[in-house]
Amino acid sequence: MSMPQRLFPLDSSKKFTDQQIVGHNRWHPDIPAAVTVKPGDTFRVDCREWFDGAIHNDDSADDVRDAPLTTVHRLSGPFGVEGAEPGDLLIVDILDLGPIPQEDSGPLAGQGWGYTGVFPTRTAGGFLTEQFPDAYKVIWDFNGQRATSRHVPQVSFTGITHPGLMGTAPSAELLARWNRRERALIATDPDRVPPLALPPEPQDAILGSLSGADFDRAAAEAARTAPPRENGGNQDIKNFTRGTRVFYPVFVPGANLSMGDLHFSQGDGEITFCGAIEMGGFIDLHVDLIKGGMDTYGVSENAIFMPGNVEPQYSEWLAFSGTSVTLGGEQRYLDSHLSYQRACLHAIDYLTKFGYAPEQAYMILGAAPIEGRLSGVVDIPNACATVYIPTAIFDFDVRPSAAGPVQVQRGPGVPRSSF
Ligand code: ZN
Repeated sequence: MSMPQRLFPLDSSKKFTDQQIVGHNRWHPDIPAAVTVKPGDTFRVDCREWFDGAIHNDDSADDVRDAPLTTVHRLSGPFGVEGAEPGDLLIVDILDLGPIPQEDSGPLAGQGWGYTGVFPTRTAGGFLTEQFPDAYKVIWDFNGQRATSRHVPQVSFTGITHPGLMGTAPSAELLARWNRRERALIATDPDRVPPLALPPEPQDAILGSLSGADFDRAAAEAARTAPPRENGGNQDIKNFTRGTRVFYPVFVPGANLSMGDLHFSQGDGEITFCGAIEMGGFIDLHVDLIKGGMDTYGVSENAIFMPGNVEPQYSEWLAFSGTSVTLGGEQRYLDSHLSYQRACLHAIDYLTKFGYAPEQAYMILGAAPIEGRLSGVVDIPNACATVYIPTAIFDFDVRPSAAGPVQVQRGPGVPRSSF
């Protein structure tokens, strides 16, 4: 089998903006298609890791603390699809993906390694930012499909590789709707740390081939790429792996599909935020169209998809549950977000009994293929969330027993950096 045509090539030794084709890091309908494909085409896309090389393979978290947040995500595209019109569904098959091919060592995430980070509360935080207010970073080494880390001993797992981010361009009307509602949310608590949402930010905007006055106008209104929205976007769905078929709503002529933020692995929720196991790499795609499919199938927004069936066969899990009661003992009403936090904190408490530092346990939950579920959402007043850890990722018996927990060799631990 030959390699699909490489329509969006990236040179690992060059910055994102110095590449042969320059992608983008904001959503805007006026960003011109960088490449045009036809329904039925198969092609390869190179993707840059989301911070464009700012995070290094070392033992300091200073780079995560000082991460250039206005520069993300580096996206490949847009890919215009001939004949696509608003109202169609764009079928995207993920045929294959992985780290940067033939480059198994080097300074860029994706060259045989990737990272998981936690942002400090002051810049962006994470799911458990109250318990983990500083910057943390873990480096994972890739060996085939497996990941191990010098910062998290006695754990190894098979990654479910996936793109954290893929989506179609919004229409001008849809973009305006995003900006209105997100500004309204920010206005409820404009000084909150970390912020409630990210308004358009012209600084560091990259908008493909747009230039001059068109660039300035678009940069002032283009949406940030952090949240998932009606166009897909940064959904961070860990099962978006090889074999996945996605049906994206089309909002602009040509659909203008873009993608990036490749992950070697991720736990459900990407709770560490910076993020899963981040890497650059490649993704092979096949595209097709269902004309008028949005109306035919009732998909006016938010892609539907058929997850790939390539994943590790973990058959035994140790699960933790949580309910919507705060750590301070306050009852909340059916708060699933809180109940998932509590489930994760219970898992962390448990793993520390085996000798892991709390931040090592947090990183395991963020990076390994753990499952998270909304188990109960109706039993007033407590929502119940559960988190499932495959027991086989540990090289020791992690199950409870009368003998008590074995102790891991904690090692140098997780690099941490504060302001
Ligand atoms: Zn990511």
